[in-house]
Amino acid sequence: MPKKKSPPKQEPQKNHSLKTAPEKKPTPETPSHKNPQQETTFSHTQAQLQKALKHLKISEDAETLLEHPKESLQVTIPLRMDDGSLKTFQGYRVHYNDVLGPTKGGIRFHPQVSLDEVTSLAFWMTIKTAAVGLPFGGAKGGVIVDPKSLSKKELERLSRGYIRAIYDFIGPDKDIPAPDVYTNGLVMAWMADEVNTIARKQIPAAITGKPISQGGSQGREEATALGAYYVLKEHEKANSWAPKKITVAVQGFGNAGYHITQMLHDDGYQIKAVSDSKGALLAKKTLDPKSIMEHKEKAGKLEGVFCHGTVCDLVDHEKITNAALLEADVDLLILAALENQITKDNAKNIKAKTILEIANGPTTPEADEILEKSGSVIIPDVLANSGGVTVSYFEWVQNKRGLQWTEKQVHKKLKPIMTSAYADIAKIAKEKKTDLRTAAYIHALKRISQGIDDKGTASYFQG
Ligand code: NAD
Repeated sequence: MPKKKSPPKQEPQKNHSLKTAPEKKPTPETPSHKNPQQETTFSHTQAQLQKALKHLKISEDAETLLEHPKESLQVTIPLRMDDGSLKTFQGYRVHYNDVLGPTKGGIRFHPQVSLDEVTSLAFWMTIKTAAVGLPFGGAKGGVIVDPKSLSKKELERLSRGYIRAIYDFIGPDKDIPAPDVYTNGLVMAWMADEVNTIARKQIPAAITGKPISQGGSQGREEATALGAYYVLKEHEKANSWAPKKITVAVQGFGNAGYHITQMLHDDGYQIKAVSDSKGALLAKKTLDPKSIMEHKEKAGKLEGVFCHGTVCDLVDHEKITNAALLEADVDLLILAALENQITKDNAKNIKAKTILEIANGPTTPEADEILEKSGSVIIPDVLANSGGVTVSYFEWVQNKRGLQWTEKQVHKKLKPIMTSAYADIAKIAKEKKTDLRTAAYIHALKRISQGIDDKGTASYFQG
């Protein structure tokens, strides 16, 4: 079990120059379900689904239902700005499939949020919860906003406004939101409080990823990274890796990226490069994740490491672009930022022979094929990042039953779920002679299609 390190602060920064904040005009859009030729993130999910369906037969009903989200909500959130003006923001919540239980999925605050992206993320949540055997379906939410352009009070009003807009669409037995990119425990606390205010009672199981004082679970903060770590340790064993000989590059030095880097650093892995949205660092020796995070928090971006503090003296590193980080000459590439990072354009330049996907959908299907041909192994998002939703499930269980587990209990429950999911999926990959992503989909689809069939399919009604 890795030692716990002090977590990075993820609180969005206050920026008083609100007039400079670009207001993104929302464009109404619908995910492309009909035309798989059209390059959208949703078309990637359907290509992955079709690839898996070549290896297993599911009922026609199940296949039909998995081609579309169950329901999608688009809302306009009015926000009173600190200067008294009124702005509006577009938000979404998508329930993809709820055959295995209430839907579950995070809320993203990002300028590039779109209905296509939210629908894709809701699809991946459906596959992920089924792949690890949780009693949940898949959902996702998002708001088109640059949270760093808002003051803290504006961010709170936006978070509460989003909940007011989607309140009828969520609930502890219906759809349970959680944090995602640029949302965190504080945002979840505001959202949970808004749920309680509207309901005029406490419903702690309505939102997960809350601070401990608000009914959050011990171990949620680092859960995604820890889940990925447990999976990687199984992969390490299966491939007889010696950690000290493995070089690593990490894209996305945020919550999940920071924690996994620290865990691997503690095990002796050589951390050669890290990046965030503003830049990347490359080192000759191993980088120290904790010092980088401290400098990042002080300076506001990774580049700050070059000119502040003592890390510059401790390690020999250079500044590189994010694109160069992806192509760095390392053994293990960890993708912990956003989707569509490795595409057909850069896949042939990727040197890492193992890719750990902590972000959702960072590798496109075309890139998957190129990487597979070049002998790279991808440990897919739906397996690698499922620790987060698993500990969210633990939080939901504790909230529903009035329990409070210790961090040790949480880790003890998480490990067997992650290791057995890896073992099951690796076994399917071997049996079917396929990649781990397809194997994870096969594993998940067996459960989802069983659920759909058990509710009564056409063949059932035909006797
Ligand atoms: P976060 O907001 O804490 O961190 C994201 C990091 O990525 C930030 O440091 C940001 O600067 C960086 N980034 C953004 N664009 C980048 C780019 N183009 N190049 C390099 N870095 C870039 O978010 P997080 O919670 O750590 O989540 C990271 C990813 O993992 C997301 O894709 C998220 O959907 C996925 N994920 C997170 C969880 C969770 O529980 N946190 C669970 C499952 C999946």
